[in-house]
Amino acid sequence: MTSRWRAVAQATGLTAPDGSTRPTIFAEMSALAARYEAANLGQGFPDADGPEWIRELAVEAIRGGANQYPPGRGILPLRTAIAEHQRSRYGIDLDPETEVLVTAGATEALAASILALAGPGDEVVTLEPFYDSHAACIAMAGAEHVTVPLAPTADGFRLDPEALRAAVGPRTRLILVNTPHNPTGTVLSAEELRLIAEAAVEVDAVVVTDEVYEHLTFDGLSHTPLATLPGMAERTLTISSAGKTFSLTGWKIGWVSGPAALIEAVIAIKQFLTYSGGAPFQPAVARALTEGRADVDELRDSLARRRDLLVAGLREAGFEVNVPGGTYFVCADATPFLTSEMPDGAAFARALPELAGVACVPLSAFCAEGSATARALAPWVRFTFVKDEATLRTAVERLHALRTS
Ligand SMILES: *Cc1c(COP(=O)(O)O)cnc(C)c1O
Repeated sequence: MTSRWRAVAQATGLTAPDGSTRPTIFAEMSALAARYEAANLGQGFPDADGPEWIRELAVEAIRGGANQYPPGRGILPLRTAIAEHQRSRYGIDLDPETEVLVTAGATEALAASILALAGPGDEVVTLEPFYDSHAACIAMAGAEHVTVPLAPTADGFRLDPEALRAAVGPRTRLILVNTPHNPTGTVLSAEELRLIAEAAVEVDAVVVTDEVYEHLTFDGLSHTPLATLPGMAERTLTISSAGKTFSLTGWKIGWVSGPAALIEAVIAIKQFLTYSGGAPFQPAVARALTEGRADVDELRDSLARRRDLLVAGLREAGFEVNVPGGTYFVCADATPFLTSEMPDGAAFARALPELAGVACVPLSAFCAEGSATARALAPWVRFTFVKDEATLRTAVERLHALRTS
């Protein structure tokens, strides 16, 4: 059997064509951004920390003695706050004792859920492009990754219903859905969610949802958890995290909620990944979830303004832009700038730091190597707008230099 790390390396582009390992495209782009002092719109983490009052609560918790292992499921006040958040925002009823689990970020919740529920011989369906850790966890589980493309249309990147029907079958064990979606910024529509729910019920698959951008939606769009659709609560694990919602990505406090039997399975794995963690952050996040609504709304509104700034700048520079309904990201078609020496988004992204002093990442980095979606999205790149306005303005000015005369 191939060792699992090789499968993970293969699934995430860490394996070069000659079989050697190489850095991820994200590391490569960040290194190029540093070398050319480029505005780094490649890596998607905020350049401003979350609200001071929340950070102060963590400091108080350390002083107050929250420094030893918290309970494996997470402290009860945080599980209660998560259950209350799901109830007040979405009408989802959860028992904090048995149906909520605190994890080391959404990343651990994803890993533990996939490892718990899928294995060799199973298929796990995701959208494509996909967040790299989804592919990595499927490979770790030894399961097979099957994808459904999100295709660029005048109305954003949309799910292809035919492709969904073709992808889901008797071997489908899990359907892993990410909405709002990284990297495309798509907020799945009611109809798209309905099709996914229908497909899951038909083959009796469990659905795992990655909803870390649940509050970061724009233009009056709102996020609907799949767990709220008819027949879905009993088969859905819902994952989110404090990282994106409160600009505290380094705290790594995430959570997964769903039926007690599924949570029990996830705990069996999570217990031996980290057991527990983030003792002083847990009480701070509990308060943030309960009392931080104004801060979340402010972040959402400021992100919408920053999105508009970047979208306008990219258009002026000559890109075809897909306006995202949520997340930290905007995708742009770089076709007008491609040449025989720079034939695709990957080559464009590698050249851009030197050419214009801006860094981005190619969408092909979020696709299975050599897939039809990778080919279709070859000219596309992703920029983040979760940077301060001055950085975005600098990036936009620099991109003007690209304008074809
Ligand atoms: C950032 C991100 C995560 C990771 O969340 P953490 O809480 O930092 O582990 C998971 N899924 C998606 C789609 C993300 O963009």
